[in-house]
Amino acid sequence: MVKFLDLQKITAKYADEIHAAASRVIDSGWYLQGKENECFEADYARYIGSRHCVGCANGLDALIWIFRAYIELGVMAPGDEVIVPANTYIATILAITENNLVPVLVEPDASTLQIDDSKIESRITAKTKAVCIVHLYGRCAYTDKIGEICRSRGLKLIEDNAQAHGCIFGGNGKKTGALGDAAGHSFYPGKNLGAFGDGGAVTTDDETLAQTIRSLANYGSSRKYVFKYCGRNSRLDEIQAAILGVKLRHLDEDLEARKQVAAYYYGNIKNPLLRLPVPAARESHVFHLFPILCSRRDELQRYLADNGIQTLIHYPIPPHKQECYSEWNDLSLPITERIHAEELSLPISPVMTQEEIETVVKIVNQFK
Ligand SMILES: *Cc1c(COP(=O)(O)O)cnc(C)c1O
Repeated sequence: MVKFLDLQKITAKYADEIHAAASRVIDSGWYLQGKENECFEADYARYIGSRHCVGCANGLDALIWIFRAYIELGVMAPGDEVIVPANTYIATILAITENNLVPVLVEPDASTLQIDDSKIESRITAKTKAVCIVHLYGRCAYTDKIGEICRSRGLKLIEDNAQAHGCIFGGNGKKTGALGDAAGHSFYPGKNLGAFGDGGAVTTDDETLAQTIRSLANYGSSRKYVFKYCGRNSRLDEIQAAILGVKLRHLDEDLEARKQVAAYYYGNIKNPLLRLPVPAARESHVFHLFPILCSRRDELQRYLADNGIQTLIHYPIPPHKQECYSEWNDLSLPITERIHAEELSLPISPVMTQEEIETVVKIVNQFK
């Protein structure tokens, strides 16, 4: 059987270093807000290419804190609008509505599955304060046009980098997570840089924003027992930071392996019943997922399962069709709806064997 993602095997690859890192924290007697966080934050900021990194409890919180900090700093106010792709994981949208900001859903480009930058300007109003792009599936969603719109209109550019650690925008060689004003990252175990539980981080060049987020995620504390904001407890554990430090050192090597799987898929999947997104530049896609599109998606998924290939759908129901957002259920977003109806994610990971990769291709190509 070809597993969708074999986390056990991924961990086994670096088991000795991971065990050593975890033991170091266990034996140290220091489990929160210590040097492991300090060290990982510095390493991750350097890796992404941003001045500051603030660890927090998970990727959703990272995004929530960015908007909340902008509200605390008077840059945004409840009721303001944030432009965001309509086809994303729900967490991007939740981070906006959690702060009583209003998501303005923009359709993606059907060939890249990323926000369509030609549809952003017409959605800007007097209330628009930010554009939040999502590097969905691990593919860079940033374009020069998006950067230019944000600069010329004075909008904050926020990145949801939960799926794209290590992805590079070819235009300027910067990594995603360092392309805008602030970025939220997730270290959920299944992500390309995954912890052994929940974890997240914000990267930014803005020191005031970073300090505000650090306070908000630590009960709103500015100094010990002095509370400037009504915050929450949303911190990254020392043990997770230590493990993430190990995995970060191997991330580029893992991403390279993912890119090789993807290149093989692109070169060898040939089936008129399927469509693949147009290929991205090599550096601009880290293949957290490998999406394919098929009008008989559910049938294809069953067929692959019957032939021993695990797949997942990212995601079966778009945010505007969810019960929690019933006020948008009647919106018509045909490109988004079609992607959600047709998307299927093939197995991809740094630990797939050549035999597994070839099996996937062979069976996918035989679907009739
Ligand atoms: C995983 C994910 C998140 C949320 O991260 P968590 O750490 O699971 O809270 C946000 N946005 C996107 C696009 C994601 O894939």
